[in-house]
Amino acid sequence: MSDALVLFSGGQDSTTCLAVALDRFERVETIGFDYRQRHRIELDQRARILARIAALDPGWGARLGKDHCLDLGILGEISATAMTREMAITSGADGLPNTFVPGRNLVFLTFAAAIAYRRGLRHIVGGMCETDFSGYPDCRDNTVKAMQVALNLAMEKNFILDTPLMWLDKADTWRLAEQLGGAALVDLIIEETHTCYLGERGERHDWGYGCGECPACKLRAEGWRKYRGALS
Ligand code: ZN
Repeated sequence: MSDALVLFSGGQDSTTCLAVALDRFERVETIGFDYRQRHRIELDQRARILARIAALDPGWGARLGKDHCLDLGILGEISATAMTREMAITSGADGLPNTFVPGRNLVFLTFAAAIAYRRGLRHIVGGMCETDFSGYPDCRDNTVKAMQVALNLAMEKNFILDTPLMWLDKADTWRLAEQLGGAALVDLIIEETHTCYLGERGERHDWGYGCGECPACKLRAEGWRKYRGALS
């Protein structure tokens, strides 16, 4: 019961999910995916975040286990999106931003379950959120619940797909990090996690690094301002 595999990309949300898992479970492993995203900065930050989060708390350090990084290059090859090609970020006629990578979370969850199966892990933790999300249909609660049913039927298991951020907005996510790991975890998230779609790490804002203009940066910055505003 007390073990988990965290979908860990190196972004703010998945780092907060990792802290949730380290707080809750006795054994925690992580999984990341190289799907030929436009920039590798998020992936490069993963090792730094894992090292720092393990050092934040001796208990967390003892619970943090193996990291799995899977090559899913085929997903990038077949996806004509602003996440996987050099193209401007826009919205399509259906209202979905072209940063949406069709099938991505379904593939991630399937591979995560295959690793969890092999490693004997029951909980699979992901940062999907439909509160102030970009409209990605594979981040919706019903999508994740349907995947839980499908994976359990297909693998004859009782995996539990945990989505601790599903009903939180970005300000709540900053607040949750503070509750779990205090100012040290908030600082780690500011300094090391990467959310910017463009892979920009030149400018350090009060909420962290990023271009400040892409939808992911705007969401992160707005959440930060709301979180900080509520504090003062
Ligand atoms: Zn950005």
